[in-house]
Amino acid sequence: MQTNGARVTQDTQSDTLRWILKAGWKGLCPRCGKGRMFRSWLKVADRCEVCGLDYRFAAPDDGPAFFSLCIVAFPLTFFIVWFQVVFDPVWWVHLFTSLPIMLVGCLLPLRPIKGWLVASQYVNRAQEAGTDKIWDQLHGRESTKSSSNFDD
Ligand SMILES: [Zn+2]
Repeated sequence: MQTNGARVTQDTQSDTLRWILKAGWKGLCPRCGKGRMFRSWLKVADRCEVCGLDYRFAAPDDGPAFFSLCIVAFPLTFFIVWFQVVFDPVWWVHLFTSLPIMLVGCLLPLRPIKGWLVASQYVNRAQEAGTDKIWDQLHGRESTKSSSNFDD
């Protein structure tokens, strides 16, 4: 994937989005795509062990919980209410259906969502800063070393 700076509009934007989605989903460093973004389940690493990216810029705060609620919890609540209305189960059935579904449904997306937020923070910061340096680094890596990381 060669980016020569000429086509900087749409292609770059969709590439960037793909990059954010991929780095976030896999929990990879948004700069080099090799190091790990997390040092534990939801703890963002201090810095990338491969390229040394300092993760102090990353402050997704309650973002992941909020998105997780919006994307998962509300539809699930709807499902659980529907389940109750249609099947009218005894209360303890919910202990073995609704409750675990709700827990897993809210916890599982937390990490990819956090990864996406951190990756997009990195990329947006690079854009806002107006410094083409970080931006070039992102695309420099993209076009040279790790093109295979982008296109599988
Ligand atoms: Zn890195």
